[in-house]
Amino acid sequence: MRGALEQIYKALRDVGVGYVAYVPGYPITDLAQSLGAEIAVNEKVAFECALGASATGIRSLVIVKQLGMNILADPLVISATHTTGAGIVVLVGDDLGPRGSQIEMDSRFYGPLTELPVLDPAAPGLYRAVTEAFRVSEEYFIPVILRVTSDVLEDASTEAVIREGVPASLQQTPRRFDRSIWDLTAKGRRQRHLAKVLPALSEVSEASVRVELRGDRGVIAAGSVIPMAERVCEETGSSLLAPLYSYPLPWKTIERFLEMHRLVLVAEGPGTFIESHLKDVRGRLTGHLPYGRVKANDLRTALSLIHISDLRGSIEMETAASRPARRSICEGCPFLPLYKALSRIDVPIAGDAGCTILSLRMGAVDMVYGLGSSIGVASGFREKGIAIVGDYALAHTGIQGLINAIWSRKNVLVGVIWNRVAAMTGFQEVFDLEHVLKALMPEMRIVDMPAPEQEIEQILKDELRSHGVSLVLFRGRCTDRST
Ligand code: SF4
Repeated sequence: MRGALEQIYKALRDVGVGYVAYVPGYPITDLAQSLGAEIAVNEKVAFECALGASATGIRSLVIVKQLGMNILADPLVISATHTTGAGIVVLVGDDLGPRGSQIEMDSRFYGPLTELPVLDPAAPGLYRAVTEAFRVSEEYFIPVILRVTSDVLEDASTEAVIREGVPASLQQTPRRFDRSIWDLTAKGRRQRHLAKVLPALSEVSEASVRVELRGDRGVIAAGSVIPMAERVCEETGSSLLAPLYSYPLPWKTIERFLEMHRLVLVAEGPGTFIESHLKDVRGRLTGHLPYGRVKANDLRTALSLIHISDLRGSIEMETAASRPARRSICEGCPFLPLYKALSRIDVPIAGDAGCTILSLRMGAVDMVYGLGSSIGVASGFREKGIAIVGDYALAHTGIQGLINAIWSRKNVLVGVIWNRVAAMTGFQEVFDLEHVLKALMPEMRIVDMPAPEQEIEQILKDELRSHGVSLVLFRGRCTDRST
């Protein structure tokens, strides 16, 4: 283990974290697996387990991909004023590009939404960021969000040295949840959070920002952009402001920095979280920096053109044809005959995240709204259509769509790709839901794959003719992995 992963590992060891849960996905799978984290069925359950661990005095960490934040948002929002016990941190990996996700999402926006602190470190600062996150969590009895990007996690630089130890407060036995918070009403708990916690966090944020003053031009850099901004600022004689906290931002320091500099460039990723709060600065919104990942040369160019107020031009949009697929369906995939049969059937077909997404380019499915979404989406079709879902996506959140379809007597055909692994994220074993499905739908059909294409097409057509919910399990083993 080197660089970023090593720093996180050592910080968690030094802090004495006793519970680590994760849900696989790019870019956090390698980190979670190298830490020996426990896999959870979905991010909400992972976070709820961590809340329970925290309540009983166990420091805990939840590791999720960016979209996973949307799944755990409900208990996360509540936990801000509910309060917690031992330190609890949500480490979220944002996918710059995006490379392995359906969208590029900026998890820093969960700061203002949840009113919980968000740390946004560069790779060399990870050890400090992890220990700081646990310190703040225990001081204010709240979960802390530690946002890292794919670039930060993939930094294997040996220069990423660890300079600091663990804060003294973390050397004490962690506390348990204190139920005296219930002396306050919901309104009172929020008043406490707004009057005491958030102002204190603003001071913490001000104390951790780094400022290097050089010239009359300045760069505000965040997260993975910081190390390259340091180099470019030195080369060009520009000042640098690098906050550790994205929420709350160190507003007093930022305002002073803006007053002291004639022109300021904001370099962050993937969104415009900081820039969109500021007036008269340059960045992505003014066309000085590109969307997606920022490179050192982008910064140099932006600084050389910083005197021009608006560089926005037309954007050439990336097409599927111009970029080779990162992954395609494996040769000999047992589910290929199903995808071929689907591509010939003329009803709307909702796919799901997972291997099904690979079949988009061959026209097997029409839409993919995210992990576990297909059954719900297909339940809304005007006529009986098809939902294709992997067994991992079904366990993650798709099963609620199935329960809803049965309960509300929807008209939908559900095809489950049953390979007992989360194939797209590293072949993690999937909980066997077969008995649960039989209990829900005793008349479900099982088809062993690979089956002949025409046979599958006939089964699909037969099921589409019947009214109500149909469930077909397509059971097979991945070709490149024995499961
Ligand atoms: S990983 Fe498995 S299910 Fe996915 S395409 Fe390859 S063989 Fe098919």
